[in-house]
Amino acid sequence: MNEEQLSKRLEKVASYITNNERIADIGSDHAYLPCFAIKNKMASFAVAGEVVEGPFKSAQKQVASIGLTSQIDVRKGNGLEVITAADAIDTIVIAGMGGTLIRTILEEGVAKLTNVTKLILQPNIAAFQLREWSEKNNWTITSEAILREDNKIYEIIVLQPSKESVEWTAQEIFFGPCLLKEQSAIFKSKWRHEANTWQNIIQTISNNQPISDENQAKIHELKHKIALVEDVLK
Ligand code: SAM
Repeated sequence: MNEEQLSKRLEKVASYITNNERIADIGSDHAYLPCFAIKNKMASFAVAGEVVEGPFKSAQKQVASIGLTSQIDVRKGNGLEVITAADAIDTIVIAGMGGTLIRTILEEGVAKLTNVTKLILQPNIAAFQLREWSEKNNWTITSEAILREDNKIYEIIVLQPSKESVEWTAQEIFFGPCLLKEQSAIFKSKWRHEANTWQNIIQTISNNQPISDENQAKIHELKHKIALVEDVLK
């Protein structure tokens, strides 16, 4: 992967940056995404934010090596703290982290979202955390994607601020409103696989008698999730 040829996952993330936007890529270890977006005129300016020294240095090196330092500012810092009002950022990308961490970054940086018009989020796990956040903060889901790369399945969620209150059903939070409607083969394969894994966990726990209260609660939770999946895939 480099700034000309992104991974399939990052290329799909980048496809939602459309219109010469001013973007911030948070957790931008190698800055390939902002470099790609600037080179392809999807973005006119980018902040590449990174909290860890090593990845921060490699992002700086990458941007300098292709001569884009006037359009991409690589900044070291935690989450959205690297963005200032003067940057006039339209779109924030946060990709390749767990849903819980992405949610924390959004919660801690909520004051930086006032003028932002799009969030492109790619959680590696726990996407439901971001749908819950969207409901609480009135951001609507305008697009979702699910794709497979290197035998891993990734979800992408695109959010825009909503004037009306946003409400999702429990099913929509869990599966994603757009993904649920579409029900692609990858979606079905992901949830069949998850349900099988949960069934195996229940079996393993049940083999260890007597079952503790904690494990009973775990079995109850997993059975609930399996029922949700069965209801959707039936
Ligand atoms: N966004 C790239 C991608 O999708 O390929 C890189 C993903 S990499 C697995 C996650 C990066 O996020 C790491 O470089 C990590 O240091 C950075 N990171 C984690 N927490 C962060 C935070 N709170 N603020 C900024 N960067 C963070």
